Amino acid sequence: MSLWQHYHLPRSVDEALSILSGYNGKAQVVGGGTDLLLELQQGRRPPVAALVDVTRIPEMNRLEERDGRVYLGAAITHTAIVAEPMLTRHATCLVESCGVIGGPQVRNVATIGGNVAHALPAGDGTISLVALEAEAEIASRTPNSNDQTPKRDWRPMLSLYSGPGKSAVDHHRELIVQFRFPTASAGEASAFKRIMRPQGVALPILNLAVWMKLSDGIVDEIRIALGPAGSTPLRATKAETYLTGIPLVDGVIPQAADLVLREAKLRTSPHRATAEYRAELIPVLFERAVKLARHRAATGDVVPEGLGLA
Ligand SMILES: Cc1cc2nc3c(=O)[nH]c(=O)nc-3n(C[C@H](O)[C@H](O)[C@H](O)COP(=O)(O)OP(=O)(O)OC[C@H]3O[C@@H](n4cnc5c(N)ncnc54)[C@H](O)[C@@H]3O)c2cc1C
Repeated sequence: MSLWQHYHLPRSVDEALSILSGYNGKAQVVGGGTDLLLELQQGRRPPVAALVDVTRIPEMNRLEERDGRVYLGAAITHTAIVAEPMLTRHATCLVESCGVIGGPQVRNVATIGGNVAHALPAGDGTISLVALEAEAEIASRTPNSNDQTPKRDWRPMLSLYSGPGKSAVDHHRELIVQFRFPTASAGEASAFKRIMRPQGVALPILNLAVWMKLSDGIVDEIRIALGPAGSTPLRATKAETYLTGIPLVDGVIPQAADLVLREAKLRTSPHRATAEYRAELIPVLFERAVKLARHRAATGDVVPEGLGLA
């Protein structure tokens, strides 16, 4: 049995929504296909009537800096993100996370929208977008309504998840069109770190992204995101509150790491690591990411680290 009957390549968001609505829930959006095609092939999803490929939609491939924000199309690949100097400056953690996803073959086709829509609590690009406090623009049509005008709304990253692998975006009727997040001003920087099994390809044992705003060594604002540390990506808000308003000296990092650890709901996974091992890793990754982000915020030096070979 074929895994899909029809393959569509719409050229606009409206056209994609119109095709999806014509199949009435029996068609599915596809980006690079690196998750979805495997799931179809391995029988983890039933065959679909049609795949609606969004990678040729110009609006979803657009990257721009406008009015103090970066707008990042959801069909942009991880390779394209890594190659973009504007993102290195404003979203260093995102470049670092997209640069270690899979291998070059995966990064060349896999999209940032697919990474978020797949809804894993430790998607690498996802964790960085959470630390950047990104929002996603969702396009949809109201089902069973005479009003077929496409609707658009901006939703915060964490509202896109309803459980492990469960997206709150309906991939049969809705599209993630693009993401937006604030540009980085002086004193603001981010960093991403992860631990992966040496032979691992799909998801990390643990990943963590930190964004911060520093003034004279004092933390004005900080955001800490990590996974897998619960059923959805986690913002470690207690550690954020603890660090806000105090000097970011080395001595406070272990206390903050302890708060991150207390908020994380760690579990043992048969393929990756035990909960105990993950608990050991949190302080290590946290310290590395915080110190790197602090250095970047203080110096403006944002050379990404740890990118995979192109
Ligand atoms: C060998 C290998 C290694 C990998 N390594 C990593 C890794 O290190 N880190 C990591 O995080 N991930 C990894 N992945 C997972 C995967 O490659 C990424 O999550 C990738 O970003 C998915 O993007 P995609 O465009 O291929 O998604 P697709 O497979 O096309 O789609 C994934 C899901 O999202 C939906 N979707 C896609 N785009 C949209 C959109 N714009 N709007 C609404 N719904 C949409 C689809 O319907 C589908 O349900 C790996 C996968 C493989 C096969």
